[in-house]
Amino acid sequence: MAVNEQVYKELIQELSTKQVVLVAVSKTKPVSDIQKLYDLGHRDFGENYVQELLSKQPQLPTDIRWHFIGHLQSNKVKYIAPFVHLIHGVDSLNLLKEINKQAAKHNRIINCLLQVHIAQEETKFGLDSDELEAILNNVGDFQNICIKGLMGMASFTEDVNKVRNEFAVLKRLFDLHTQQQAPNIQFSILSMGMSGDYKIAVEEGSTMVRIGSLLFGARQYNS
Ligand SMILES: *Cc1c(COP(=O)(O)O)cnc(C)c1O
Repeated sequence: MAVNEQVYKELIQELSTKQVVLVAVSKTKPVSDIQKLYDLGHRDFGENYVQELLSKQPQLPTDIRWHFIGHLQSNKVKYIAPFVHLIHGVDSLNLLKEINKQAAKHNRIINCLLQVHIAQEETKFGLDSDELEAILNNVGDFQNICIKGLMGMASFTEDVNKVRNEFAVLKRLFDLHTQQQAPNIQFSILSMGMSGDYKIAVEEGSTMVRIGSLLFGARQYNS
């Protein structure tokens, strides 16, 4: 299935009136799909896997803003450091340290979001509120990163109230730390909401949604 142009246009309309940024999640999708959205004016794309991002990035226009939304391993930071626009899933001080180091090599400041564990499911990555606090209190001398806000994923469930509550928890943490400004802590982005739950996320204060299957069709991993 190719890009759903009509869905894209309606989504952009809906989100732009609320000043919510759309990250089009293009993982597993061909560069032709990305190019098609690009030709409609879209610039923010999200990828989960370093290898896949590295193979797509050189084939596409250089003004694309690449969001890394997957779980990033420290030893792979160096590959995306030259060009990545925003790293959404940062969940340790060690990873931040490595991002800072690689960003410095390229004379860049790399924008990051800290991933908070909001879903009650066991398998999700992310920080709890104490770990979040600890990281924010220890990034003082990292001059080549800027923490722009928080990212989270709600439980995969039909229970709308549960999802809403999880997003509300993240929004409260976001608001709390928005006060805590420093040269490398500048909260303005709250990345929450995917194809199935973005409407709830936006109602709960999301400023950035990450949407894949709604735009590009369902993903097939075993091709
Ligand atoms: C795949 C993915 C998305 C997009 O999911 P859809 O349900 O296809 O919209 C968003 N965020 C993260 C972290 C993802 O891994």
